[in-house]
Amino acid sequence: MTTHTHAVLHRALRHAEEFLDGLPRRPVAATASARELRARLDVTPNERGIDAVQVLDDLVAAADGGLLGCPSGRFFAWVIGGALPSALAADWLTSAWDQNAVTHACGPAACVVEEVVGELLKQLFGLPSACSFALTTGCQLAHFAGLAAARYAVLQNAGCDVHEHGLAGSPPLRVLASDQCHGSIHRALRYLGIGRRQIIAMKTDGNGRVDVSALVGVLRESSAPTIMVLNAGDINTAAFDPFAALIPLAHDHGAWVHVDGAFGLAARFSQSKSHLLEGVEAADSWATDAHKWLNVPFDCGVAFVRHAAAHRAAMSIQADYIEVSASHRDPIDWTPEWSRRARGFALYAALRELGREGLANMIDRCCAHALAIVDGLGELPGVEVLHRPTLNQGLVRFLAPRAGATQSEHDARTDEMVASVNASGEAFFSGTTWRGRRAMRVSVVNWRTTEADVNRALAACAACLRPRSNNFSPNKNSHL
Ligand SMILES: *Cc1c(COP(=O)(O)O)cnc(C)c1O
Repeated sequence: MTTHTHAVLHRALRHAEEFLDGLPRRPVAATASARELRARLDVTPNERGIDAVQVLDDLVAAADGGLLGCPSGRFFAWVIGGALPSALAADWLTSAWDQNAVTHACGPAACVVEEVVGELLKQLFGLPSACSFALTTGCQLAHFAGLAAARYAVLQNAGCDVHEHGLAGSPPLRVLASDQCHGSIHRALRYLGIGRRQIIAMKTDGNGRVDVSALVGVLRESSAPTIMVLNAGDINTAAFDPFAALIPLAHDHGAWVHVDGAFGLAARFSQSKSHLLEGVEAADSWATDAHKWLNVPFDCGVAFVRHAAAHRAAMSIQADYIEVSASHRDPIDWTPEWSRRARGFALYAALRELGREGLANMIDRCCAHALAIVDGLGELPGVEVLHRPTLNQGLVRFLAPRAGATQSEHDARTDEMVASVNASGEAFFSGTTWRGRRAMRVSVVNWRTTEADVNRALAACAACLRPRSNNFSPNKNSHL
């Protein structure tokens, strides 16, 4: 390796250390506007090349203030996990090794690591050992892979080969999906040629769980090839559908059941939370994310399919120049992509770094922190708890102080509070609309979050709730 490559990699290490070491001091929110970032980053094609170390330094300087503190223990927005140290480092090596995890021939170690990771995950999640699996860019494409297998299988059961005849030559499908299902389900279905009118929303109860009683009639109503989509942890309240009741019912009517377990499948690792998933192992396909609660860097999702033949039929490709090997698992047979990143290395590292015990501890810790934040917020004046976490997700609403304030004033107050806590730099949350009302979401999915982070976040929320005359001033406090 040339000294130049050494120099730039060492520089990258230093910048990474500075970024991570600075997390406790820097604001969690971005401080640079899009306009500032464009002014700094926008360039025209340069005639001459620029020294690699210089390129890196320039990039770091220009991105300053434009990076969210996603890896911070006080980042509670959306559902964004941190990266475990070994996973982060393995991810760097993945780039250095630059393997193409498309076939065994292109990346032998990368493909064997994927084989191993798939087996480990099936054991850890308690899924059937004969399942096939695929590592994808995220849960979105894991849904795509699982639902493509579903589409193929339910149409095959109806006597139709969708690959030969396309959807135009197939009977119409119908999809029953929880009314709380994530937008990535609708998008995956759209990619698969399944339109909105083919999707029937299944009603959920006050806890966000699909109501079983209403379903029997719906299943009987039509003999169309059917796919049912259930939640193992929805984004607002981490609701788990009653799998033990729903899945056998769906199977009695010949439906394929796909489960969105983007982060919720990880509840399996915890002794006290595992019951939420009871019966989920009877489904036909499952999608989850390693870049959420397994804390590997972006991007990594995982699909599991009970019926390997349908999965392979939906994804596989034969091309003249591809060496087919009977003795190896070629990822190209199972994933929607062709050339692809060797994302198994980071996942392998994360699973080994934590082990069963570490995974369980991380899940339990995150759940306890989520509860502490929501309960702590609930004790503050003018805060209404909409959902006390049963897993790692909670919802609160901030009430406008005016007597007789309207719902839309409470909505506005809630959005203002999210913005003002985020502007304080002390913690970062995101908003949502839940059952028609604005709410602040609390999501804890990061190994880094500590009790001190929880207390610091609560103090920031309390300070934002105090009248303006108070001496807490957003941004100035961010360098504590
Ligand atoms: C994050 C999330 C998704 C989408 O996952 P990506 O990895 O962003 O593609 C789908 N469903 C749920 C419940 C999620 O939380």
